Amino acid sequence: MKVSPTGAPAWTSSKPPLLRFLNACHADFLPETSGAVADYIPELGKADPAHFGISLATLDGHVYEVGDTQVPFTIQSMSKPFVFALALDTLGAARVESVIGVEPSGDPFNSIRLNAENHPFNPMVNAGAIACSGLIHEAKGDGAFEYIRQALGRFAGRELGVDDAVYSSESLTGDRNRAIGYLLRTNAVIKDHVNSVLEVYFRQCAILVNARDIAVMAATLANRGINPVTGEQVMTPYAISRTLSVMTSSGMYDYAGEWIYRVGMPAKSGVGGGILAALPGRIGLGSYSPKLDRHGNSVRGIKVCEALSAHYDLHMLNRSDNARNAVIADYDIGENPSRRSRRPHEQKILAAHYQDVRVIELMGTLSLSNVDYVARQLVARPRPQFVIFDFRRVTSMTLAGARLLAEEFQELAAYHVTVIVSGIKRADAEWQPIAERTGSLPNMRYYFLLDAAIEWAEDQVVFRHGGSIDFFETTELSEQPLLAGLTDEELTDLASLGAVRTYQPSQKIITTGDPATSLFFLRSGVVHVTLPDGIRLATLTAGMAFGEMALLEPRRSADVRADMSATAYEVPLHDFERFRKQHPRAGERIMRNLAQLLADRLILANAKLNLLTSN
Ligand code: GLU
Repeated sequence: MKVSPTGAPAWTSSKPPLLRFLNACHADFLPETSGAVADYIPELGKADPAHFGISLATLDGHVYEVGDTQVPFTIQSMSKPFVFALALDTLGAARVESVIGVEPSGDPFNSIRLNAENHPFNPMVNAGAIACSGLIHEAKGDGAFEYIRQALGRFAGRELGVDDAVYSSESLTGDRNRAIGYLLRTNAVIKDHVNSVLEVYFRQCAILVNARDIAVMAATLANRGINPVTGEQVMTPYAISRTLSVMTSSGMYDYAGEWIYRVGMPAKSGVGGGILAALPGRIGLGSYSPKLDRHGNSVRGIKVCEALSAHYDLHMLNRSDNARNAVIADYDIGENPSRRSRRPHEQKILAAHYQDVRVIELMGTLSLSNVDYVARQLVARPRPQFVIFDFRRVTSMTLAGARLLAEEFQELAAYHVTVIVSGIKRADAEWQPIAERTGSLPNMRYYFLLDAAIEWAEDQVVFRHGGSIDFFETTELSEQPLLAGLTDEELTDLASLGAVRTYQPSQKIITTGDPATSLFFLRSGVVHVTLPDGIRLATLTAGMAFGEMALLEPRRSADVRADMSATAYEVPLHDFERFRKQHPRAGERIMRNLAQLLADRLILANAKLNLLTSN
């Protein structure tokens, strides 16, 4: 380990704790040499029993690797879950489920026995797996194996090859599997020639993978079928969840019950020495070590999975969900109004009706419990007229969450509450389950920016309570909050210093970084203040000042553009300074007004920060 001059280890040698843990597992279980390499397929007996690799893939696509993670070995029975998923998606669940059961068999994996309906017990035993290969053969004919190889490659995120020696070795000796094949054919579970189906099955078992591949394949299972490294949706969530179900009940040979009890992760092992474990929504694990125990499971692989599950308490049934964690902020426009500067009569209306607009900012995954919690928060306070749901930080929705949310929108609409959605585009794919269910709702509105949504709702409140918003009205300097308290004479003097400017819609008035040499008093129209990256800081209407920070700062700190045609008094800074000298009382008043306006902005900014951090 590198040591820095201060005696602490160099930061670059720091490792994520999960990698340290996997390293420790590798070191701890390397001395474990019990078990035996499978040799009933003669070629498998040639595996090097010393090899030991552990890989763990996270659902954000990071892959940890320790030991011999690049050593290729044959996938064997770990192909079974993937080919089952492929059959479900290729032939349809009804067809597949009509010929293959999902009950644990209680028999060894290669048992020549079917269930009471003369169907394989499940797709994880050889009979069920051969039936799946048969179904793919039925659909794809001679292209069946290539179709399977490609599909497994999408799970792994790379092209996978085949070990021809292992394939031929099994094809020459696989009489037991042939016996199963004939049994399936006589019961009409497979329809094509037994030999052609078994060729597909033997080849699929001889596909070459390494520990890293199976970690990524497992992570794809854990991620509802989306490969976290390539981002590709490899199979449907239906096929994936059903595959995980049979892995849970039957994935680990006749150790499956004990496994799920102790380790609690859907998993599948293969006689080649691999184990893959997929913890839904969390991780995919792949381990490789060829020596097997009496059940046919890799000895070291089992130990790694047990240690990982025990150390981090990963048993899949040991879970809970915090219903509150999807609401990042919940407020009304009294606590956090829009960035539009309002004129006094608008402010008065909004101050009296601040509870009419409720804003709920959501984040993360919206699930059944999260959305139910949101629905209860809404009924707990007086009913608003407008509810804005902000989805900017929502990363996903479960089907249950989406359903419940759509039902909540319908409920609100029934009470004539206008639902406004921000932070999402109506056409976004993840929004479709909601759009489908709320398409006919009368008042739903969409805004990309939360601030624009709040601003619109505020305007509606102002209109409903008789306030007018006249963008074309021309205001006088006496209406400017920055000039409050000035006498008529002072105002007239100040007006004589300014020139009236006219701006076209979207014309740039102020540019960030330019010298700040004048102040502006907006007479008519609307302008907006933005940072150079486009973030809108404020929308100003007639009667407001802008560029007033010139009184404090030598350079412009934001851009200002006209929203619509606008007019403003522009007062050069040096004239304004002269005015302050001539009218010291007015000068002091203006600086006080400026301090007040800044203080108001700061109070609002703090309130907003508080909203976001106190939940
Ligand atoms: N090809 C092997 C067989 O059918 C796979 C067995 C296994 O990995 O469980 O015997």
